[in-house]
Amino acid sequence: MPQKKEDTYRRAYDQLCAYMDEHKMRHTPERFNILSSVCMLQRFSVEDLRESLTELLISRATVYNTIELFEKAGIIRHIEKEHGVRAGQYELAWLRSSSIHIICQHCGRVREVKDPTFSRILEDKRLTNFMLERYSLYLYGHCKVCKKKSKLITK
Ligand SMILES: [Zn+2]
Repeated sequence: MPQKKEDTYRRAYDQLCAYMDEHKMRHTPERFNILSSVCMLQRFSVEDLRESLTELLISRATVYNTIELFEKAGIIRHIEKEHGVRAGQYELAWLRSSSIHIICQHCGRVREVKDPTFSRILEDKRLTNFMLERYSLYLYGHCKVCKKKSKLITK
């Protein structure tokens, strides 16, 4: 069940504060501004995140450092990628512990899809000498927009 946006921010906020307190880091307003954008976007590239921050005058270096901080604090994780898909996308770490992502090889757009039947097959699967805890599945192809564009080009 998807979490409400406020709940997401509350959870991320608590987690960030705990991490910063533990590491004796300052609670700067920039970090919380970025955190709020991250919670709104849920899944993003560094560029998406920067675009969402334009009016706040936060430097590129701060954005990168903050992403690193959020990753260390376990708030976001890097989405694994293959074959030159658009560099670096991140998502909230607890979005779903097990997930299926569909990735457009052309524009790099990532979307999460839910397939309860498929999930059940994986979760019920017995693997020799192995306990499955979670899984990530990445399906590569072309999104509707890119497919449409490529059709126009080839006409
Ligand atoms: Zn696309």
